[in-house]
Amino acid sequence: MLGLYLHIPFCSAICNYCNFNRGLFDEALKTRYVAALRQEIARTPAGWPADTIFFGGGTPSLLTPEEIGSIVQAIRDRFALAADAEITLETNPETVDRDKLERFRGAGVNRISFGVQSFRDDELKRLGRIHSAGRARAAVREARAAGFDNVSLDLMMWLPGQSVEAWLGNVDALVEAAPDHASLYLLELYPNAPLKEEMARGGWSLAPDEDAAEMYLQAMERLERAGLGQYEISNVARPGKASRHNLKYWTDGEWLAFGCGAHSTRDGVRWKNVSATEDYVARVTAGLDLVTDRRILSSSDRLEEALFTGLRLTEGIDIAAAGTRYSADVWKQYGQALRPFLDEGWLVREGARLRLTRAGMLMANEVMAVFV
Ligand code: SF4
Repeated sequence: MLGLYLHIPFCSAICNYCNFNRGLFDEALKTRYVAALRQEIARTPAGWPADTIFFGGGTPSLLTPEEIGSIVQAIRDRFALAADAEITLETNPETVDRDKLERFRGAGVNRISFGVQSFRDDELKRLGRIHSAGRARAAVREARAAGFDNVSLDLMMWLPGQSVEAWLGNVDALVEAAPDHASLYLLELYPNAPLKEEMARGGWSLAPDEDAAEMYLQAMERLERAGLGQYEISNVARPGKASRHNLKYWTDGEWLAFGCGAHSTRDGVRWKNVSATEDYVARVTAGLDLVTDRRILSSSDRLEEALFTGLRLTEGIDIAAAGTRYSADVWKQYGQALRPFLDEGWLVREGARLRLTRAGMLMANEVMAVFV
């Protein structure tokens, strides 16, 4: 079953740490973009089976429920969409109220993922976010009132000037909001991020590495005690509420992605659409090719990727099955390089399964470097 990703590149304001493919909201461009997305979907061969749809961005909740509904309908017209398909909408708290959420639900959305990032107004302001903690809490309540039984919250960790206590206060506030799923991301500062200048001006620094490790480990313990079990390095969920769409990325699945800058992977081929929004719309409208990069993945590329994405999961990866799939003896190929990580207690081998321990998750980049 395919996962389908729709990229919506519009935001009401640009956050000072953001390096995604996005731009400021423009009503006229948005209307043309939605039409282009429907056209791109209609170019796909008919009848392929799919069971997840994910609207990501940018800020997909800046689209109207009618626009979201029209895209879902375009997908239904083209794909064999499973009756129980998971349909996620990334949503910024300030873009919705109960009525809009109800209408998103009517448009087919059955999972809401709120970009909360922090439950402290001072931290939100520092990141250039335009919602308040109170608005985020209210948005979660409104989503419940609108009938959503699958709500996810994103939080960012290791923010400038953030202490371990402040972070754990955010984790407690998340637990209080009672989501079904949560993603905890480490703030990554790209080289020219405006936030870097603001940090210098404000005298804010990042907590030391040991504190970041403590933030992560204590957060995972608190979330687990609250019934949100870890299933991936950065993700926790109540039983049965893991993100079915994102699991495709970590379990060697296949997905098609629509919109500017979107990456697809199917049948051992990976490709990327043109990045600029205007360029994308112009090309779709003119019936031109959208792909800028296309790469045929070799069997060893595919094996490496299956291994390093699979290791992100707490259950790890079945190396015997991966080896069979890609005609390789995984242990023979990588066993020696992995041995020191097993000795450190960062990796565990249980029968055919290889998995990171929680301490190993802090060292995941070092371990995964073995495969790339
Ligand atoms: S809302 Fe999200 S995508 Fe938009 S600028 Fe902020 S971080 Fe980037």
